[in-house]
Amino acid sequence: MSEKILNRAAEKILDGVLEEFSKLAAIPRPSKHEEQVSDFLKKFFEEHGLEVVQDEFKNIIAEADASPGKENFPLTILQAHMDMVCVAEDDYAFEPTKDAIKLIRGEKFLEAEGTSLGADDGIGVAEILYLVKNLDAFEHGRLRIIFTVEEEQGMSGAIGLDEKFFADANFLINCDSEKFGEIVAGSAGCVQIIFCRELHYVRPDTKLGTNMEIKIGGLRGGHSGGEISSGRINAIKLAVKIMRAITKHGKIRLSSFSGGQAFNAIPDSASFVIATDLKPDNVQNICEQVERRMKNVYGTTEPEIKIETKIISRPDKVLHAKDYELLTNFIELIHSGVYLMSPENPAQVLASANLGMIRMDDQIVELKLLARGNADELVEEFIEGFEQAAKLCAFESKIFEPSPAWLFNPNSRLLKIAKEIFAEQNGHAPEVSTVHMGLETGYFVKKNPALEIISIGTTNENIHSTNERLHLETVAPHVKFIVGMLEEISATKF
Ligand SMILES: [Zn+2]
Repeated sequence: MSEKILNRAAEKILDGVLEEFSKLAAIPRPSKHEEQVSDFLKKFFEEHGLEVVQDEFKNIIAEADASPGKENFPLTILQAHMDMVCVAEDDYAFEPTKDAIKLIRGEKFLEAEGTSLGADDGIGVAEILYLVKNLDAFEHGRLRIIFTVEEEQGMSGAIGLDEKFFADANFLINCDSEKFGEIVAGSAGCVQIIFCRELHYVRPDTKLGTNMEIKIGGLRGGHSGGEISSGRINAIKLAVKIMRAITKHGKIRLSSFSGGQAFNAIPDSASFVIATDLKPDNVQNICEQVERRMKNVYGTTEPEIKIETKIISRPDKVLHAKDYELLTNFIELIHSGVYLMSPENPAQVLASANLGMIRMDDQIVELKLLARGNADELVEEFIEGFEQAAKLCAFESKIFEPSPAWLFNPNSRLLKIAKEIFAEQNGHAPEVSTVHMGLETGYFVKKNPALEIISIGTTNENIHSTNERLHLETVAPHVKFIVGMLEEISATKF
């Protein structure tokens, strides 16, 4: 038996893991181009004598025998994703499907020259490869290794994996988190909905002599999962607030309205064109008032908010009054923002929705919304509520297939072991959290609801960017953390 991993010097483990990582970095592996890396991984397992399957999606599934005498202990899955987000600096020549990632190893960090590093999730893969090479250096029950494709783009690898690979497993350790010392123990499911309705236009009344374009900008926007609780203003919602404020003083007809970019981004800008019987100065005053009111409430989180007005020529058509009412009522009715915080942990969002985009043309208006819930029931509740609101305002709803949540399991034996081993090895308790985003783990737990899962990782900063860097000092402790858990699982009577 080779030297036990738990007794090895950190430097030795780090070198071993980085040796595997550098092989991965040499293989181009942006999402949807995983053939090469998948073949490489298949060959790796074959060379190390493991039974390996490459499925139709190019996911890799390998089986490692238990240490002698440990055959009857629970089966644990070690999992990571093989694809990466490839981005390059503007002036850096880089072809993601052809070029290698060039590594720069500093004293504290591993970085890439001119591109993203792919520590997300190459370091998870490399650590697992290192463990496979050293299976005789720690005690373990049966292990299954799963490397998925397309995690960064649609998660079709995780979705497509055959249920049979999860049916006989008890535990799954996902190595795709970005902070050593944090154990993720739950993630959100989500649903995308498009609402639309036909529009009817009329010629504007000549008594509505003021025609203006109103633009909302300077907002921070951000990811609708990560930033939904950080006090960001939704530009589309704000636009309707302004329309309402104008309506208190005069008549308004809407000619156009657009805002936001995507389902999962908080809209940071919106603009609309109106015809009104108010004077331009009145409209501007109203907008200034709304801006002040917003600054009173959101001044610290949205200091740059700007509402601008511009006089324009008369639009040749405006929305029929009824359509205007239904559209603005609907936008006010549908919830956007945090919906439910965790009663146990006030810092964690359990349910939220984001009205991400509005577009209208001569015929229709379309709204894009994404709702998240850290339990499937919360997503279902949202869907029901939104469908009712849509009916009330004569909108049609197109509901996409929801992605599953990974519900926090307070009785998870794996989580208990993880907390104990981490504290024992590091002298302090780990942070346990749930994330308000979708992870592959949601699909795994759907395939086997009894599966106990944790998601962990080394500390990787600025992922998906050219500033991505790996904190080298977290690699060896992370490997020892995994080994400690596997040894404990193979020594525990469950
Ligand atoms: Zn990842």
